[in-house]
Amino acid sequence: MTNSPQQPVYILPENYSRQIGKDAQRTNIMAARIVAETVRTTLGPRGMDKMLVDTLGDVVITNDGVTILQEMEIEHPAAKMMVEIAKTQEEEVGDGTTTAVIIAGELLKKAETLLEQEIHPTVIAKGYQMSADKAQEILQNIAIKVDINDEVMLKKIVTTAISGKGSVSIKDSLNAIIVRAVREVAEKSATKTVVDIDNIKIEKKTGGGISDSELIQGVSVDKEKVHSQMPREVKDARILLLDCALEAKEAGSDTQIRINTPEQMQAFIEQEEKQLKDMVDKIIALRANVVFCQKGIDDIAQHFLAKKGIYACRRVKQSDMEKLSKATGAKIVSNLKDANESDMGAAGMVEEKKISGEAMTFVKDCKNPKAVTILVRGGTEHVVDEVERAIKDAIGDLAAVIETGKIVAGGGAPEIEVAKELRKYAASLGGKEQLAANAFADALESIPRTLAENAGLDPIDIIVNLKAAHEDGQKWAGVDVFTGEIKDMEKMHVLEPLKVKTQAIKSASEVSIMILRIDDVIAAGKLSGRGPQGPGAMGGMPEM
Ligand code: ADP
Ligand code: MG
Repeated sequence: MTNSPQQPVYILPENYSRQIGKDAQRTNIMAARIVAETVRTTLGPRGMDKMLVDTLGDVVITNDGVTILQEMEIEHPAAKMMVEIAKTQEEEVGDGTTTAVIIAGELLKKAETLLEQEIHPTVIAKGYQMSADKAQEILQNIAIKVDINDEVMLKKIVTTAISGKGSVSIKDSLNAIIVRAVREVAEKSATKTVVDIDNIKIEKKTGGGISDSELIQGVSVDKEKVHSQMPREVKDARILLLDCALEAKEAGSDTQIRINTPEQMQAFIEQEEKQLKDMVDKIIALRANVVFCQKGIDDIAQHFLAKKGIYACRRVKQSDMEKLSKATGAKIVSNLKDANESDMGAAGMVEEKKISGEAMTFVKDCKNPKAVTILVRGGTEHVVDEVERAIKDAIGDLAAVIETGKIVAGGGAPEIEVAKELRKYAASLGGKEQLAANAFADALESIPRTLAENAGLDPIDIIVNLKAAHEDGQKWAGVDVFTGEIKDMEKMHVLEPLKVKTQAIKSASEVSIMILRIDDVIAAGKLSGRGPQGPGAMGGMPEM
């Protein structure tokens, strides 16, 4: 069954390629492992960064697993599945992308060894599935329940999340900003607290330093006021959000306007002016003093608005309009004629401010700001981008903790603890599934091993000592990557949400099982430039 046919029998079109049995498995596993190897060196606070240059010469410097994989334009189908894990992790939690990919890579590596021992992929898959379920249970058991209002603890989680992003040293000030932002948008209901992280807007501006970053209780809009005569700031703003243009109605493309005399011309212009004046009058009648318009605002309308001291921005992004609506309570109006009192929103202050020479509008002091903005500053674009990614990871972590109220300590401690318990569980299993469960436990140990390797420590020593500590009952013993010692990670304040670990194990096992179960790859076109068979079938993989 596993041998390729000796005599070619053409059942597929000529330009199709096909891999069957062990060949398919081997190639897929290899492709997936290469992906894992690529991000491996970035894990942990002492991980390295990658510099990615695209075809246009744009440079991204990052330590963020999902960003690296997305920028790499991976083509091999199995390798793409690994990228999907990172994306799922990013969407579900926002952090732990590298961890998930490394575990998946390692699960496949161990599976390869089992395959060589003639263990059937279905058996391995079953053993992996049982182990993954057991791992979830173990993680739930060892997790620490926390008080989600404990700000000091939340700050520690942020520190752990952003310390992974090695290239930027992020100050305490930013830590406090992130915690405040997430708490601001957290919505409590009777039974639980939910955090919609879309309500936190991250606005990047190069210039200044990271410590100049600030939290705005409301929304920043990357637009200036449309007219220089408009006020620079409006206190007690009454806000109108429009998604229709403040422009005279254009005649349809099939209408002809024939103007023969100067009087007709004059009448036409007046007619247009009147339309615009009516619009502005309507705005005045609503007692709005700030207008955000998603579409254009005609020069004449701008002039009328400015004369009445009304602040206005045009061509505001839809996502910003939605955030403005949340923060100020205003409804987005699509027909100005129908606008009424209940559509109006409020903010303590709307002002235009220059950030690094560019004018922006800040809507601040909203009564119930369910939307907030973190204004990220930093010396260069690369710094600001990486800080943004770090902030996103931290926000995801905080949201996960606030929603579930459970954390674990990091530094490889949970992985070693789960591996230890899994081995006990494996002993209770019969036959070949036992081998798979032990392989699963081995795979989890790749996390502390990689943390140690990336810190320039001896991974074998570290793993041996870690295992001994865990056997000794120190369940949070992990690797202190800065000193090389085994320490209690909970006491070291290296804290992470439980969800990062549960999700990473879940998606890693799912994907590795899926890849393992493939024994036939039928592809339109060739899998690589070097023919469909053998290790050369690495279409699109970058040189390593
Ligand atoms: P990921 O994309 O998986 O989040 P990171 O580069 O952020 O990758 O690294 C996360 C890992 O680093 C976790 O296992 C975490 O426990 C560990 N880690 C973070 N801070 C420390 C620390 N101070 N000491 C040891 N390990 C740490
Ligand atoms: Mg991380």
